[in-house]
Amino acid sequence: MFISGEWRDARSGGSFEVEDPATGEVIASVPDGGADDARAAVAAAHDAFKGWSTSTAAARADLLYRAWQLMTDRSEALAELMTREQGKPLKASRAEVKYAADFLRFYAEEATRVTGEWLPSARPDQRFLVLRQPVGVVAMITPWNYPVSMLTRKMAPALAAGCTLVLKAAEATPLCARAVFEIFEEAGTPPGVVNLVTALDPKPIGEVFTTDPHVAKLTFTGSTAVGRHLAGVAAGNLKRVSVELGGHAPFVVFPDADPVRAAKGAAALKFLNAGQACISPNRMYVHEQHEDAFVTTMVERVSKVRAGNGFDDGVGVGPLVDEAAVAKVADQVDDAVGRGADPLVGGHRLGDGEFTRGHFYAPTLLAGVGDGMKIYREETFGPVAPVITYGDVDEVIDLANDTNYGLAAYVYTRDFSTAIRAFEGLRFGIIGVNDVNPTAASAPFGGMGDSGIGREGSHDGIEEYLETKLGGFAL
Ligand code: ADP
Repeated sequence: MFISGEWRDARSGGSFEVEDPATGEVIASVPDGGADDARAAVAAAHDAFKGWSTSTAAARADLLYRAWQLMTDRSEALAELMTREQGKPLKASRAEVKYAADFLRFYAEEATRVTGEWLPSARPDQRFLVLRQPVGVVAMITPWNYPVSMLTRKMAPALAAGCTLVLKAAEATPLCARAVFEIFEEAGTPPGVVNLVTALDPKPIGEVFTTDPHVAKLTFTGSTAVGRHLAGVAAGNLKRVSVELGGHAPFVVFPDADPVRAAKGAAALKFLNAGQACISPNRMYVHEQHEDAFVTTMVERVSKVRAGNGFDDGVGVGPLVDEAAVAKVADQVDDAVGRGADPLVGGHRLGDGEFTRGHFYAPTLLAGVGDGMKIYREETFGPVAPVITYGDVDEVIDLANDTNYGLAAYVYTRDFSTAIRAFEGLRFGIIGVNDVNPTAASAPFGGMGDSGIGREGSHDGIEEYLETKLGGFAL
């Protein structure tokens, strides 16, 4: 763990093991921190806040530029570590490291653009000045599915704003977190400004993060159930809260779309990170006139997606994070098939040969999915593409919106009016129109409803770490 600028063991002396999800092999052991370690880290961040929050924006920008340079220089080693620890194909790990580094550079630039306002008053002898200041110590909890970019997406804007921070990494991916903190250490971050705790049991850490009076804000990325609980406790203590949670993205193919292009997009998008992404499409609504063309192209594409160890050439889908993840996917697919869905490709676990010791599920295409099946309502987080055939164009936006989640949605159409109507009508924070990658450091990422509160990336992302202060000046 990294506390007060030093690498430390857990106070208890305990540690836990990290496994390669493709082979089940133990690759490292890391400190198993507890509540006292979390409190020490919060105290360190609190002590460092005065100095960091009053440093110049240019100095904070320089630190982030140095971190960006270091991450870029060691991107190949980081990508390899990510594939080893998290399982995604090496090509996908490289893309994530690039995305992660983009946040460092973007917020290096943004640090110097935090400004104030001079406002008019109704009184001739009064002036108003509005100042933007860092909120204080930020507690961060991050997931395992994007083990580097989910850190920089929170750390970079917080640091740019002048906040200090304590981060608890996901128990499945502490090594990637350690590598990110090594970069911040080498970039010259003053002691206590960034602190890392690792723990096998996240609960005591979450308890400190949501109750310690020195924590001003909690930012969480993970499941809706945990995020709802932690946000509730933190808000009860009047801490600021940002939570980026689950999704259940619709993917709508309109009658005026090119079904082949849509299917190619769907196949490329669905199997990213083995479907373990909150913006992964989970309901593919295909108009009946395109069903044949869409499904034929999907069968072709999905059949070619190779599962395997992320280090092997040509592998498109790595392992799932653990056995529970495989069991959840299997349960959803079995339930759908039991209720009439047709597994056109895959539809089963992979457990023989090279798959014996890892956590694999076959890339799967399910046709004939409908309401009443678990997969229609629940987030899958696995490599399964569910196709729902619809007939009524006037109803499809309502069908797509019929979920408590509201993170990402995708539409395919060649008609400008259809695109604008869908963009306006879908209740989701991110809409891809003929676009399966509507994300970038410069663009706001976040959802509505059960998908969370707040935005990350873009100028909105730094606002989450700033307080507004008003000064009234009588002349
Ligand atoms: P996922 O499905 O992505 O594993 P989780 O919400 O379980 O989603 O995990 C996301 C992050 O939240 C991880 O860092 C995990 O350790 C942490 N976490 C899970 N439960 C708690 C809790 N009760 N308190 C604090 N953090 C938690």
